[in-house]
Amino acid sequence: MDILVEEKYVKQAAELHRDYPVVDAHLDLAGEILIRRQLGEKNIIREHYLKNWRNAGMNLVVSSVYVPTKILKQGGTGAAWDNALKQIGALAEEIQETEEVMFVRNRKELAQAAQGEKTGILVYMEGLDCIGEKLERLEALYEMGVRGASLTWSRKNALAAGCCKAGERIQITGGLTKKGKEAVKELERLSMFLDVSHLNDDGFEDLKKTAKKPFCATHSCAKAVYENYRNLTDAQMEYLAAQGGVMGLNGCKYIAGSLSGNHLEMLCRHGEYEIEKAGKAHVGFGFDLCDSYDEADSALEGKICGEKCDCLLHHGQIPLLTAAFLQRGMSEETAAGMIGGNFMHYFDSVLP
Ligand SMILES: [Zn+2]
Repeated sequence: MDILVEEKYVKQAAELHRDYPVVDAHLDLAGEILIRRQLGEKNIIREHYLKNWRNAGMNLVVSSVYVPTKILKQGGTGAAWDNALKQIGALAEEIQETEEVMFVRNRKELAQAAQGEKTGILVYMEGLDCIGEKLERLEALYEMGVRGASLTWSRKNALAAGCCKAGERIQITGGLTKKGKEAVKELERLSMFLDVSHLNDDGFEDLKKTAKKPFCATHSCAKAVYENYRNLTDAQMEYLAAQGGVMGLNGCKYIAGSLSGNHLEMLCRHGEYEIEKAGKAHVGFGFDLCDSYDEADSALEGKICGEKCDCLLHHGQIPLLTAAFLQRGMSEETAAGMIGGNFMHYFDSVLP
C-alpha cells in the first residue's frame, strides 16, 4: 500500500511549490516533440505538459536529446547527428511558438526562469554518439543552445562505455577513451554541464581524475535502496556531492524499484537515503517521465504502447511527492532545496 498523504502536508507542499523554484532535471522532451510533430501534432508542450507544469510551479525542465538505438543501428553516426539536429530544431521551434516557456542558455535566463513567469527549458545531449570522434561538433551544439551532455547513454561509443548493453541489464566494463577525456575538457571549456547518469563505474572513476568542474547525475537513484545496473553507489553519491554536483531522483519504476506499486514510498526512501549520503544540498528531481514519449513513439511505429514506466502520472503530481516527504519528517528547508533550489544552484555554477 502506497503512502496516504494527509491534507495539511498537501497544503504545505503546494505553498513550497509556489514559493520556491521547481526543477525536473530530466525529460526526453525534444525527442517527443519531434515524434509528435512527425505525427502532425502542434502545440505539444501546451497540449501535453503546460497545465501540469503550472500546477507543480515548474520553473525549469531539462530536456535531453536522446537518439534512439534503432536510428544508430540503421544509419550510424551520420543518422544520429541528423536526428539530434532535428530534435533540437523541433524543440527550438516549439519554444518559439509557446509563449509560456523560454529557452535557458545562460545564467541570466536561468534567473528569469527562477522568477516563474515562464517555464525555462535547458537542453542537453543524453549521449554523444551523434558526434562520433568529431569534438568540434560540441561547439556547434553549443551554438544551437545545447548546454550539457552525458558522454554516453547506456551504450559504448567513441568516448566512453555506458552502464549496460542496451536491452541487457549487465554492466559493461571500460571507462573513458582518450577522445572521451578530451571531450570532458571541451565541454568544460564551453561551460556545458556533464551528466554521469548512464556512465559505468569505470567511467565514473576516470571522470574523477579528468573533470575540473562539478559534474551531476540528472536522473539516478541509490544502489543501496534498489540494486540496479545504473543506480549510484554510496561512494559515488558522496564523491558527486563533495565536488559540487547534484543528483536527480529518478521516477522510473524500473530504476526506483517501485514495481509493487508503492511509488511514493520508494521515491521517499531513495530521496531520504541520498540526502543522508550526499547531503541536503545535493539531491534534486530528475524524474525521467517516459510514458508520454513512449506513447508517441509507439504511435509513430504503428505499435501498441507497452507497459507504463512512470511512478508519477505527470508533473502535476510532484507536489504530492513533496507532501509525502514532509509527512515523513523532512524539513521545509531541505524540501525547498530538493524540489529545485539545489539544481538551480548547480546550473548557476556551470552555465555561462
Ligand atoms: Zn536516461
